[in-house]
Amino acid sequence: MSIQLEPPIGEMIPHSLVSSHSASNSRNAHSSASPPREGRAGERRPRSRTRLDLHPDEFSSLCLRLTHRLSSDAVVRADEPLARKTTLRVGGRADLYVEPASEVDLILALRFCHQHGVPFLVIGRGSNLLIKDGGVRGAVISLAQPCFSLIEASGERLRCGAGAKLKAVAFDAKRHGLTGFEFLEGIPGTIGGGLRMNAGAMTGQLFDRVESVRVMDPDGSIKEFAADELGAVYRNCAGLRDRIALGAVLRGRPAPKDDIEKRMTEFSRKRWASQPAAPSAGCIFKNPRSIPAGKLIDELGLKGTRVGGAYVSQEHGNFIVTNSTASAHDVLELIDLIRSVARLEREIELETEVQIIGEEA
Ligand SMILES: Cc1cc2nc3c(=O)[nH]c(=O)nc-3n(C[C@H](O)[C@H](O)[C@H](O)COP(=O)(O)OP(=O)(O)OC[C@H]3O[C@@H](n4cnc5c(N)ncnc54)[C@H](O)[C@@H]3O)c2cc1C
Repeated sequence: MSIQLEPPIGEMIPHSLVSSHSASNSRNAHSSASPPREGRAGERRPRSRTRLDLHPDEFSSLCLRLTHRLSSDAVVRADEPLARKTTLRVGGRADLYVEPASEVDLILALRFCHQHGVPFLVIGRGSNLLIKDGGVRGAVISLAQPCFSLIEASGERLRCGAGAKLKAVAFDAKRHGLTGFEFLEGIPGTIGGGLRMNAGAMTGQLFDRVESVRVMDPDGSIKEFAADELGAVYRNCAGLRDRIALGAVLRGRPAPKDDIEKRMTEFSRKRWASQPAAPSAGCIFKNPRSIPAGKLIDELGLKGTRVGGAYVSQEHGNFIVTNSTASAHDVLELIDLIRSVARLEREIELETEVQIIGEEA
């Protein structure tokens, strides 16, 4: 199926706004005609409000107009706090926050963003996001409504909506006697975020199980790609950088439910023996080729290092955990500190796995 809108729509934030926190892979917060200003080490600072240089009242008015365009079940809010929509529990607000209640709503929201020059960003459960204290200029779109979270089993395949929780996929697979999904049990994200990040654990990664992915382009057209067309690699899927994943077909193998249950229990035990329970975004850094990032941070003696309300976890060196006083700035400072020490002491350039989004306060 292909749904095409006239006029063509949308500038999506992820390509331009989500930054991977490394010198080699930094991105600007908003794409624009003029060059970006440099910010903290290796990162380009977001531009000040350009097309979104609106008074709060104007945003309320935009919010109202979008509300009238979408179905009554859709959620549209202005100036929405984002910290509680992430597992790190820090960061600022979104100018606009939208939960479409159908794919048609999603298309209408994208068209609205295009018409009003509002960039957009899609989020899942925010379990791999560090939102800066100044928040996100533009619209944050969440596929949190039930219509995006369906999981349907058919033979060895599971058709999963982008909003489906990875844990729910693992448990549904077990219920249908399908193995290969056990590693998803403890990853607190959605299929959409999991595809974008090619989430993995216990030697498995999501794209090992993906047959095809249904996506919406920023112009509102819907397409289906075979897994190998999307360029998924370790903790990244370039083919989804500028697209919204709507869902995926995953394939498992039949297996006795007891065996699946045993594997899930074992994975869960291993995870909770090595992972902190405090708020975090999971692993902050990608593993360098030479050494796992957690082991490196441990060897550098950085466990327990603190900046404000952000700490390097004692349980796992690659986790930064936060307390209720933490700000995104604290977490960013701690990331910079770890990267500097790794560079100075081991000549290792750590690249962030966590997606860093938004503007400084
Ligand atoms: C305690 C803890 C443990 C974790 N353990 C693991 C682990 O073992 N393995 C692992 O890989 N990760 C792990 N993570 C990180 C995280 O759970 C995964 O990266 C997860 O896949 C992110 O999914 P999400 O829905 O939360 O995405 P978000 O964090 O909301 O978004 C992540 C990225 O995906 C993009 N995105 C979200 N939805 C879509 C969509 N529909 N279409 C296109 N792009 C989209 C966002 O724009 C963003 O760039 C852990 C995190 C925590 C807090």
